[in-house]
Amino acid sequence: MKIRVLPPEVASQIAAGEVVERPASVAKELLENALDAGAKSVTVSIHAAGRSLIQVADDGAGIPAGELSLAVERHATSKLVSAEDLFRITTLGFRGEALASIGSVSRLTITSRTAGDPAGARLRVDGGTIGKVEKAGAPVGTLVQVEDLFYNVPARLKFLKQDGTERRAIDALLTRYALAYPQVRFKLLEDETATLQTSGDGDRRAILAALYGVDAARQMLEVTAEEEGSTLRGFISPVALTRSNRKEITFFVNGRWVQDTPLSAALLQAYHTLLMVGRYPLAVVFLEVPAEDVDVNVHPAKTEVRFRSPDKVFSFVQRSVRRAILAFTPVPQGVSQHLWGNAAQETRTVDPAWGLAHDASTFQREKPGMESNESATRMPLSGVSGFANEETLPHTGVPLLRLVGQIGATYLVAEGPDGLYLIDQHAAHERVLFEKLMAQHDQKNIPAQALLTPVVVTLPPAQAKVLEEQLPVLQHFGFHVEPFGQNSFQVRAVPGLFARADPAAALGALVEDFEEDETPLQNELEARIAGRVCKRMAVKAGQALSPDEQRALLNDLESCASPRTCPHGRPTMIHLSVDLLERQFGRKGAR
Ligand code: ADP
Ligand code: MG
Repeated sequence: MKIRVLPPEVASQIAAGEVVERPASVAKELLENALDAGAKSVTVSIHAAGRSLIQVADDGAGIPAGELSLAVERHATSKLVSAEDLFRITTLGFRGEALASIGSVSRLTITSRTAGDPAGARLRVDGGTIGKVEKAGAPVGTLVQVEDLFYNVPARLKFLKQDGTERRAIDALLTRYALAYPQVRFKLLEDETATLQTSGDGDRRAILAALYGVDAARQMLEVTAEEEGSTLRGFISPVALTRSNRKEITFFVNGRWVQDTPLSAALLQAYHTLLMVGRYPLAVVFLEVPAEDVDVNVHPAKTEVRFRSPDKVFSFVQRSVRRAILAFTPVPQGVSQHLWGNAAQETRTVDPAWGLAHDASTFQREKPGMESNESATRMPLSGVSGFANEETLPHTGVPLLRLVGQIGATYLVAEGPDGLYLIDQHAAHERVLFEKLMAQHDQKNIPAQALLTPVVVTLPPAQAKVLEEQLPVLQHFGFHVEPFGQNSFQVRAVPGLFARADPAAALGALVEDFEEDETPLQNELEARIAGRVCKRMAVKAGQALSPDEQRALLNDLESCASPRTCPHGRPTMIHLSVDLLERQFGRKGAR
């Protein structure tokens, strides 16, 4: 094919693709325009997850009637005059592209009025065709309506995700901007129902509850730090509050939401060694740096920035966050010493006749930081063959074990005919619960235990929606949960297996799982739900168990089909064979 210049409609659709990917990106551009116009109040309304309508109304400065048709031209902006201005941008927009792009892939209507104009004006753009400016009655401010997004670009329509996903993206956007601009009143209406409303009184913690739920919001730690003209403010989770992915880590740089992985990495470093493997903190961090130290002109959708001295910024983030965590976290050493004390008492009750490794605590002394499961999985001493023992073990089961005791309130020590077993109580319990639950599930008979007093759980709007869509699956698992007013649910029964557990925690585990992936296969979903709930309900590392509880756990584990790993594939036990012990003590082998 010959090289040729694309017709303008085609070229504009290509450019639009960079900025307008989905309903949430339209909402983001319009929201930014409203904030740039100094709005004190912004109302976003969507219909059909933004497919049929995305509307943003603000009370900002407005667009003079005479400039309305310029506003929808490509590269037309009031926020920038010269190239140098690019290096001191203090507005969210600056590319002059958004309205033109949106207008080329939808039916766009802008109605606006400035304080100086006695009346407002209106302009329509239909699939890139710009109409005439008309007079229109309007309050001071701007109303932008985007109807039938991508009606003229069917290929893009096909790539839109399920309504629930698109809605969640808009929810997430609004909540985060509300947090970044607590002095602005935000309202989100989804199909005429208000799903978010903030007061604009500047109180961030109240808005935090909309993002994370009341309980989590209460636990979040506040960070403030200042250094050489830069400031950092925000909320981070204590080490006990984590998620299984990094989606809840949010950074704003100079009022702009950026999806910047190096910044997240700096934050994660601050939590290093304090969280279990595979767990991530929640955080909303607002970083302010001098405008000339950051290049915002990096990405078409403006979701990335480049710092002049990245190392300095990352280390500032890391140190400030670390300081905040440590200030609120009990000194780790103190914790393990406390646990240590318990463990020593437990082992002392052991019958001394059981000479073999009954002073199991020596194992722990060699391995500090035992309260995390991580050390259990990393512990395989060279030559220890807990799992490669298939020649001697006809199946993957375990032999009958005799309990010795508990150490570090985390591991059980047991003796078998072939040596010593160290069992991770959390992983083992997870396995036990999982097999019991799945067995009941396979027989389509998960007994539900009615709660004496039904528990009401309130979730953030986005999570509430996720849960609502999955109620039938839950019912199936013995969770009898009913909608109970806005964003609230009443838990009437839980699976009998978890009768003594906290229903709110169980529900939390489920929602987290649903959120992760919107369309898993049904059977896969069910095994995953079971895995997730069992993990949450299992005894934790650091929980002292009575001798009876220890014995029950061991018995249950012995009767599991796959006792050697937890449902997520991590080992439940380490086996030190008699042979290995003899070698290590120099009783056997080369002399
Ligand atoms: P940019 O924000 O990069 O300047 P846009 O295409 O988003 O480009 O908007 C073009 C121009 O239209 C802006 O520079 C601004 O002058 C004007 N404008 C857009 N939305 C609003 C609004 N809600 N209130 C006031 N002015 C607006
Ligand atoms: Mg803009």
